[in-house]
Amino acid sequence: MDNKFPGKDITEEDLKSKFPLASSNNEKKIIEIDETVSFGDNQKIPIIAGPNGVENKDLIFRCCEVLEKNKIKLIRGNIYKPLTFPYRSKKYFDIGDEGIKILESVKKNFDVKIVTEIMEENKFELLKDVVDIIQIGARNMQNFPLISRAAEEKKPILLKRHFGCSIRDLLGSAEYAMIKNNHDVILCERGVSAPHTHRSSSRFLLDIQAIPAIKDNSCLPIISDPSHASFWHKWVEPLSLGSIAAGAEGLMIEFHPDPRNAAVDPLQAINFDEFSKLVSKLRNLSKVLNKTIV
Ligand code: PEP
Ligand code: MN
Repeated sequence: MDNKFPGKDITEEDLKSKFPLASSNNEKKIIEIDETVSFGDNQKIPIIAGPNGVENKDLIFRCCEVLEKNKIKLIRGNIYKPLTFPYRSKKYFDIGDEGIKILESVKKNFDVKIVTEIMEENKFELLKDVVDIIQIGARNMQNFPLISRAAEEKKPILLKRHFGCSIRDLLGSAEYAMIKNNHDVILCERGVSAPHTHRSSSRFLLDIQAIPAIKDNSCLPIISDPSHASFWHKWVEPLSLGSIAAGAEGLMIEFHPDPRNAAVDPLQAINFDEFSKLVSKLRNLSKVLNKTIV
């Protein structure tokens, strides 16, 4: 079959017929979370930060305190974890339904919004009062029934790009939410597989180029997750700064009071001190760009 635009996988025709709602032919979407936080307004850069997993109440409360100190409003933390291997030792666990109560108490005690992943359709009802932004993880990016069900909640969706999927695929998945009348989809670049990844030096490759490419092809905001991309705490700062410089409209960062002893992904989380320093560097950078970290 002829490729109408050799070298480009997204064609003008795709913008019109494959993902007409997600395409850049529409006015840029601004997704308001509250009075101070919005994605895609070309001015604010929201940070979503927190531990990988909601291990216990004390951990998530301590993280919320650090967020408040840094004037950051969005906490991340998963109670359901898409762990690569099914053997869940005491060391690597997700808290499951038990974590719902913890998230409820986060809501009662802190002025933060909760971003958490949902992997199964039967969990939406259980989480509907605690989740503010529904995360669809990379591994479920093409779980179309899950995305359609998430759209019904009428809450913003954070859709992470699968590490083996193209931008065209990502926009197709976003369209599944939008066609269900939920246009509040935040896209997230979290690293892709390349021939030299999954070796000792890098697990995934943060596709910084995807940031301007997505902005060229879609009306939806795009944020970056350097923690999952690099899998390495020391690179979270440079990749965060690089993402914002490249035009990312938000960040997802993992942090933990004792990263090397985190229940999941202990190599990628930064500690409290490193997080506060990172936020301050991001604030300095955003000033130069005439933007504000929120
Ligand atoms: C996560 O954010 O905790 C996560 C599992 O990310 P990803 O789906 O990008 O691997
Ligand atoms: Mn993770």
